[in-house]
Amino acid sequence: MSRPFNFSAGPAVLPEAVLEQAKAELTDWQGSGMSVMEMSHRGQAFMSIASEAEANLRELLNIPKHYQVLFLQGGASAQFAMVPMNLLREKTSVDYLNTGSWSKKAIAEAKRFAEVNIVASSESQQFTTIPDRDSWQCHPQAAYFHYTPNETIQGLEFQSIPDVGDVPLVADFSSTILSRPLDVSKFGLIYAGAQKNIGPAGLTVVIVREDLLGKSLPNTPAIFNYETLTKAESMYNTPPTFAWYIAGLVFKWLKNEGGLEVIGQRNQRKAEKLYTAIDNSAFYRNPVDPRYRSWMNVPFILAKPELDKTFLAEAKEAGLLTLAGHRSVGGMRASIYNAMPEEGVQALIDFMHDFAQRYG
Ligand code: PMP
Repeated sequence: MSRPFNFSAGPAVLPEAVLEQAKAELTDWQGSGMSVMEMSHRGQAFMSIASEAEANLRELLNIPKHYQVLFLQGGASAQFAMVPMNLLREKTSVDYLNTGSWSKKAIAEAKRFAEVNIVASSESQQFTTIPDRDSWQCHPQAAYFHYTPNETIQGLEFQSIPDVGDVPLVADFSSTILSRPLDVSKFGLIYAGAQKNIGPAGLTVVIVREDLLGKSLPNTPAIFNYETLTKAESMYNTPPTFAWYIAGLVFKWLKNEGGLEVIGQRNQRKAEKLYTAIDNSAFYRNPVDPRYRSWMNVPFILAKPELDKTFLAEAKEAGLLTLAGHRSVGGMRASIYNAMPEEGVQALIDFMHDFAQRYG
């Protein structure tokens, strides 16, 4: 039986092959006599799962040797606090670019620890665009520069890495990591909650340049200290073992699919097809500046918002699930992460076309 297409923004669809493998191995992982959920995180079996996952992630993203990779808990939200706690160092101010709901959350949290300089904001344009680079008021003494490469709620994505000189670049890659090739060497720190392109919720990946470690605020709890976590190889306490294992299966799947170059081309095709369908229709509209439209999250509104509920009900009937926009903005949103096949996007386009014909 084929599964419906799930357009959830996160937790999101996982590759079916990954779910099948997890199912086959659920009660007895490779003859160990136990499920991965039941294993000691310090035993040989799990250690091999953990190190293979890290090696595959390093290979996929071509992560340089002088970067540490951490598999943590607490979601991207914990990183909103851990970043300033660990990277403020002797400085007092930090630069943040405000391009959407997740930037705002990161800013609010950083304010607990530092003077936050908002270098630029597109809030007055309802976060439908990214302020021009020329307008950014960067602080030369900033401890780091933080931005959100993909705003999951607004459907706004940077199409290139911003240049901020020598200030360490920190980015919340939660909703776009692994969606295309990335030059990790341009960053001081990258973090991402797993529940979109990596695996199940409960796991957070952090990639940090080694020279930034070891200068956390004096009161930083050990569990939030990147240096402590690095020394303990992400096992200062019990890590989210099952989520880490599933992430490892996803990394293998990505390699089997041909790696990030191939995945990136597929994601671009999927997104362009959907935006073209929206732009060619008088019934649907996407409000985002076309230069910055996200390949991962595609929000759209209906010309007749009173039909939102009907649209969602009929979509569900057609096997197209979780298309409601974020509760803060309404409308619709199709999240088309790596695991959403091209057929899923085509099925959505066909349904949208048919719906517009009948109700437009
Ligand atoms: N940042 C971004 C860009 C997100 O999309 C999300 C979750 N949707 C978060 C942060 C918050 O992540 P978490 O729930 O893992 O804390």
